[in-house]
Amino acid sequence: MSTTEKPTNFLRQIVEADLAAGKHATVATRFPPEPNGYLHVGHAKSICLNFGIARDFGGTCNLRFDDTNPEKESQEYIDAIQRDVNWLGFAWNGEVRYASAYFEALYGFAVELIGKGLAYVDSQSPEDMRKGRGNLTEPGTNSPFRDRTVEENLDLFARMRAGEFADGAHVLRAKIDMASANMVMRDPAIYRIRRAHHHQTGDAWCIYPMYDFAHPLSDALEGITHSICTLEFEEHRPLYDWLVDNVSLEAKPRQYEFARLNLNYTITSKRKLKQLVDEGHVTAWDDPRMPTISGLRRRGYTPASIRHFCDLIGVTRSDGVVDMGMLEFAIRDDLDKTAPRAMCVLRPLKVTLTTWAEGEVQELTVPRHPKDESLGARVIPMTRELFIDQDDFSEAPPAGWKRLEPGQEVRLRGSYVIRCDEVVKDAAGNIVELKCSHDANTLGKNPEGRKVKGVIHWVPANESVPCEVRLYERLFTDPTPDGHDDRDFLSFINPKSLTVVQGARVEPALANVQPEERFQFEREGYFCADLRDTKPGSPVFNLTVTLRDGFTK
Ligand code: ATP
Ligand code: MG
Repeated sequence: MSTTEKPTNFLRQIVEADLAAGKHATVATRFPPEPNGYLHVGHAKSICLNFGIARDFGGTCNLRFDDTNPEKESQEYIDAIQRDVNWLGFAWNGEVRYASAYFEALYGFAVELIGKGLAYVDSQSPEDMRKGRGNLTEPGTNSPFRDRTVEENLDLFARMRAGEFADGAHVLRAKIDMASANMVMRDPAIYRIRRAHHHQTGDAWCIYPMYDFAHPLSDALEGITHSICTLEFEEHRPLYDWLVDNVSLEAKPRQYEFARLNLNYTITSKRKLKQLVDEGHVTAWDDPRMPTISGLRRRGYTPASIRHFCDLIGVTRSDGVVDMGMLEFAIRDDLDKTAPRAMCVLRPLKVTLTTWAEGEVQELTVPRHPKDESLGARVIPMTRELFIDQDDFSEAPPAGWKRLEPGQEVRLRGSYVIRCDEVVKDAAGNIVELKCSHDANTLGKNPEGRKVKGVIHWVPANESVPCEVRLYERLFTDPTPDGHDDRDFLSFINPKSLTVVQGARVEPALANVQPEERFQFEREGYFCADLRDTKPGSPVFNLTVTLRDGFTK
């Protein structure tokens, strides 16, 4: 699929049909994260879906924090989530919304349900309540408190709110059906007593609505038409409908489910991602190895590449695992077209051109991109002393070697053909320098009668800029790190997931790169100047992705 084609999927077809049938004047979706962690690539799928539908059908998409669990939530997460949604290229409708802003309204709906005989205060111990729920093969049993009068329930619920009872002493439950085949419908709890400070409402409340109660009613309050969520909520749909139908709200949003994104070689569970951060297995939520949106950003992924990836994987109702290679394809595809080329020598080996005059500098103009002339050109000074990569020289190369070897020629990218005449070693036998000669007639053309196949990258020794390069491999060695009953996902962390290369040298044009500038380092891969650690004159580069799948030079 090209980046300009609009994706279609069963949800878009539903929206299209509903609009055509005049069910709604406009489509209204929402993206409803719980602010209990940073967003990950799975959320990107949901964001692209919800915001994409609103954009393409002339509707709106709200950003709503479903903040009903204050103990696990924080302002840091709220800020990060907004930043990530914006960065992905989406704008929400109006102000950011919070389920907590509806606490008073939600309380009113709970009172309404009590008044209709559809909710009751249960005073059983949590243990008894659990036993009373039954299981998949046995129906539940009614709570001894199920038949409390409306008056008694109203009184108790008001006193729950007023703080008269200890945490956990009572819960408010919807009165539905303890014998339902669907466990979710067996009188689910809708309010609990919890003395927790809330990041938005402070200490105003000591009772908090359950997610399953707050979510559908928040959707209804916002006039959401299509409430799109992941498949694990399918069996919650009857409760969603029951709540929306039993309170006096005009809007009747409907819930639709799609399969969550699972990506191999990583994890998409906020709880486990938090564990990686808290236990120091990675440096932060935006560590470039993390599948978080902020991690992908810091790694060098572009918003367009993530959106393209979401188009490529599509939206269905069947669960599956997407290959990490697909995400890598999407960023390679983008950067191949857009990233300026540059040369960076990761492990420098000094080359002295004996045929080049001492102190002579020739400014070579080299295009920034092989196909896109609009990216212009950069100037690379050619001097007597250069660096090439240690890996590009071999004294005893294998057959088919196309790089430098004693007595043989190779072309320096954008420059001359050189020949290695002498290998200089230290006392321990390590190669410390190559003495080479250049052929002055080979700039931009092959020497007469000789074909020089190999091209290697290089930088001038003195004018190049020292930089730090961080090479990444996948964070886990196993395709399904959290899919093993007998092993913890942490035991699959790849010990080689990060290699820090100090002392790399990059061409002078990159001395003052801005954080987040992206390049293709020729023959090495795509790199991005680190968002946090790049300073003027002292760049730090993250490997975004290698040039090819399973890349070997
Ligand atoms: P996690 O299980 O990682 O904690 P969550 O589902 O609890 O994720 P929410 O903050 O509730 O996280 O997610 C906000 C929205 O993103 C929800 O509508 C949810 O269905 C969707 N979402 C979460 N994970 C994925 C995923 N892996 N693929 C697609 N959508 C997802
Ligand atoms: Mg959730």
